Amino acid sequence: MHRQEIYWETKTYIQLIMKYVIIGAVAGGASTAARLRRNDEHAEIVIFEKGEYISYANCGLPYYIGNVIKNRNALFVQNATSFNKRFNIDVRTLTEILSIDKTAKTISARNQTTGEVYEECYDKLVLSPGAEPIRPPLPGIMNNGIFTLRNVADTDAIKSYVQQEQVQKAVVIGAGFIGLEMAENLQLLGMDVTIVEMAPQVLTPVDFPIAAILQQHIRSKGVHLVLNTAVRGFEKTEKGINVQLSNDSVLDADVVILSIGVKPDTRLAVGAGLKIGEAKGIRVNEYLQTSDPDIYAVGDAIEFANPITQKPMVTYLAGPANKQGRICANNIVFGHHEKYKGSINTAIVRVFDMTVATAGIASRQLQQAGISHQVSTITVGSHAGYYPGAHQMTIQLAFSPEDGRLYGAQVAGYDGVDKRLDILASVIKRNGTVGELTEFEHAYAPPYSSAKDPVNMAAFAAENILLGKSVVFYWDDFKKMTPDDVLIDVRTKTEYDAGKINDAINIPVDELRSRLSEVPKDKTLYIYCQLGMRGYLAQRILMQHGYHSFNLSGGYQLWNTCQREVELSQGTPVTV
Ligand code: FAD
Repeated sequence: MHRQEIYWETKTYIQLIMKYVIIGAVAGGASTAARLRRNDEHAEIVIFEKGEYISYANCGLPYYIGNVIKNRNALFVQNATSFNKRFNIDVRTLTEILSIDKTAKTISARNQTTGEVYEECYDKLVLSPGAEPIRPPLPGIMNNGIFTLRNVADTDAIKSYVQQEQVQKAVVIGAGFIGLEMAENLQLLGMDVTIVEMAPQVLTPVDFPIAAILQQHIRSKGVHLVLNTAVRGFEKTEKGINVQLSNDSVLDADVVILSIGVKPDTRLAVGAGLKIGEAKGIRVNEYLQTSDPDIYAVGDAIEFANPITQKPMVTYLAGPANKQGRICANNIVFGHHEKYKGSINTAIVRVFDMTVATAGIASRQLQQAGISHQVSTITVGSHAGYYPGAHQMTIQLAFSPEDGRLYGAQVAGYDGVDKRLDILASVIKRNGTVGELTEFEHAYAPPYSSAKDPVNMAAFAAENILLGKSVVFYWDDFKKMTPDDVLIDVRTKTEYDAGKINDAINIPVDELRSRLSEVPKDKTLYIYCQLGMRGYLAQRILMQHGYHSFNLSGGYQLWNTCQREVELSQGTPVTV
């Protein structure tokens, strides 16, 4: 019975007893429910979940498949009984919500065990149905042995299949975060793994140079990468599955993991006539309220304005879903005081020994959105070089040429990547600038960092570009050079002899001042060193002697990585 009905029957206004109903009991849903209870001890709270489990660690599923997480129970943060005991919430698992009647303020639920269909009323309803994996209608896609991974049931199915079928060859389709984690975990199980990706790179949220670094690492671990290539279909054979590719080749597989993306699960919302937005998510306002004032929505299913581009976006990350749950519950109970400010898509993945992390907007997407920006890439040690165990770390920043506002940051490396990216993300989130990052004060001792942290170094390089103290060009800009331009390699002769770019001449930076007469003043100079730092030093000398030059951002090493990856990944180009 609704509050209003109770009022008319009893003439008692029961203000405190609200009935909150939540659909979906994992990241966003469980988080909302728990916060609702903390905010309102007297409310009736019912949470529905069509699966068997609630509040489990989706993010841990690939690692359970790979036996890194050995104990299946470790995946379950809560179960229906413990959640009920702690939060006094009525948890109904294995119960699918079939429809919402927003006029009557009721939902229709089907108990999947008994088949019973019944109605439940609500005062406020929260939708957190998540996102569903995309399964395009390709020939043979429903064959046995082809899996998507979203929940515990999928995980159990994959795990038992690979154990029972003694799987040796795996094909992972899609090189996003989950695809890459699955590739690593299947290889850990001893399989020969091939990743097929339609885009020209892995991890499309990052820019190509950062992806190229990761691609080299993946290849070094023996995983095969087939880029620029789409899947046309599947054929079941006696031995397993043939995966047919757009470049006319065929891969043999014993198991296929389809990881080509997800889309917001808006089925209930569409059925209820709630507004769906441009990005195909449930449209919510800044209080996470849908187009119906008594229905809220959180998590993978919603769309919201990107705080940088202001364009509608969806985000498929656990952090935003959980945080939205808290904000949504606060707004439901206390009124609309707390605004959700949107997500900057802060994400991280470890693939074998390498970690790649990103926040904000990649340069490619800034370009697509027509946002003018500059890019700077540096490679430095994760901590002081004289202290054992330092590893190289590459940081790429995209920032506004007007005021240095940081739009995007990406980090690839082996140690301390998470810490650096989190610092950068916090600056992006509050519309900070590269100038602020130059002042960032970090905790320093040799095992952790250098006196100038990699984040400071990235900011110094970006600020130099912003102030015109450094003028850069990028790994793919060589085609812009004219025959009249001069390319100078400022590394040592040994480095130069080991490999140079095109017809570069060699003037090591330490000899530059004494050999200035060899450098033509009337030509445009393109300079490079190994990582970009010595090139910058050379450019400072040249600039102050009246030369016009560009320094290669990221240096020879990044150019070489990108170049090798372009060559390796040349397949049938596919528009993405
Ligand atoms: P979900 O957590 O997916 O919950 C939605 C729930 O709603 C589901 O359990 C579903 O069964 C239920 N439901 C849907 N429709 C109905 C209905 N009609 N009736 C009843 N119940 C319904 N994010 C990260 O940030 N980092 C990671 O490392 C990471 N790793 C991941 C690894 C995997 C394998 C997966 C699948 C996801 C990963 N994510 C990660 C993404 C993250 O898990 C999601 O962004 C997050 O769970 C979204 O929360 P949600 O509440 O919107 O949806």
